[in-house]
Amino acid sequence: MPVVWLNVDKIIQVKTISEIRADFPILATKVYGKPLIYFDNGATTQKPEIVLNTLSEVYRNFNGNIHRGAHALSDRSSEEYENAREKVRSFINAEKKEEIIFTSGTTGSINAVAFSFGEKFIRKDDEIIVSGLEHHANIVPWQMLCERKGSKLKVIPVNDEGEIILEEYYKLLNRKTKIVAVTQVSNALGTIVPVKEITEAAHSLDIPVLIDGAQGIQHAGTDVRKCDFDFYVFSGHKIYGPAGIGVLYGKEKWLTELPPYQGGGDMVEKVTFEKTTYGALPLKFEAGTMNYPSAIGLAAAIDYVLSIGRDYISAMENDLLNYATNVLSGIRGLKIFGNSEKKISTISFLLDGIHMYDTGMILDKLGIAVRTGTHCAQPIMDRMGLDGTVRASMCFYNTREEIDALGMGIEKVIKMFS
Ligand code: PMP
Repeated sequence: MPVVWLNVDKIIQVKTISEIRADFPILATKVYGKPLIYFDNGATTQKPEIVLNTLSEVYRNFNGNIHRGAHALSDRSSEEYENAREKVRSFINAEKKEEIIFTSGTTGSINAVAFSFGEKFIRKDDEIIVSGLEHHANIVPWQMLCERKGSKLKVIPVNDEGEIILEEYYKLLNRKTKIVAVTQVSNALGTIVPVKEITEAAHSLDIPVLIDGAQGIQHAGTDVRKCDFDFYVFSGHKIYGPAGIGVLYGKEKWLTELPPYQGGGDMVEKVTFEKTTYGALPLKFEAGTMNYPSAIGLAAAIDYVLSIGRDYISAMENDLLNYATNVLSGIRGLKIFGNSEKKISTISFLLDGIHMYDTGMILDKLGIAVRTGTHCAQPIMDRMGLDGTVRASMCFYNTREEIDALGMGIEKVIKMFS
């Protein structure tokens, strides 16, 4: 396997691609006797050895419930959990550790904000802005809020390339707008959204912004302070970490003002039957036993990403996107959806006259894992006039050879149906 394909200068490559792939044991497995080609990284990413070992180490060596026990295991688990919080803080450049709340994932984080922010700040006829590119996780919690409060959901339209129309967004902003919630990257089409411009425009009217970083953090990263986001959310499992853990970053001023959305152990200061007072940040938002092993595993995943290096990841993924776009657009009868100038390494496509499920099923039999369907983003599929697409989502451990194999697999599908 070639070591470097990148034509990007000044990238320090700490590992060869073979070494990187060897870090992910699952990449060596076979599916139906064929080497696995994993192009479903948008749904979930595979885990490097360091994450697997960390999870095993927690359960084998120091498992104890956090913030509770008066014993060594609990102390150690609590310490590692709080270290994980600090790791996340520094990774996204939040100002304070208290601004990092662990949740079950992006969905859990958005529901938390929609509920909590909604309780405190949303009234009848207020408006909430989302975009036409959103995943259901950044639509439905806001719709539920609108139903509870009689408020209105406003949607930023998307053009034929799959890009948000900024001029239309600016027109939607007004004094009734109470929050703007948009994705950093479209999971269905790969579009990179101009979240900085969106945030600046909202802030010019003192409107807070929530960014769904589920598809952005692993490809583009973030700097919540530089971008001045009010809330930023992501899932551990999409950035090479364990499932069941997510992050809700919120500026301290918001988190201090918002009421807790779940009650229970660990989030309280004093409980009596007459009245309960809540604990300080961040525990106010962390009721019950948290998924501390996965939080500690997420910290290991962040260490891994940092060890590979953001520049390398971006360069590699850009190369894969360009190469795959070239290979796939050379196939007659294949149409790519989502042609934004700024994209991550995700390609959504359809084959002329061949159902997406047939394409996905045959590719699967060839050992190639892609996703088919609406990608939990039905509104953008409707906007594009589609029932769904086949989605190949690549990341830095994928290779050009794998893309060639995808191209050949697609040719096979076309031949079978011709
Ligand atoms: N937002 C986006 C853009 C996503 O891609 C996803 C996952 N596909 C989610 C939210 C939801 O993430 P999770 O299921 O991990 O909560």
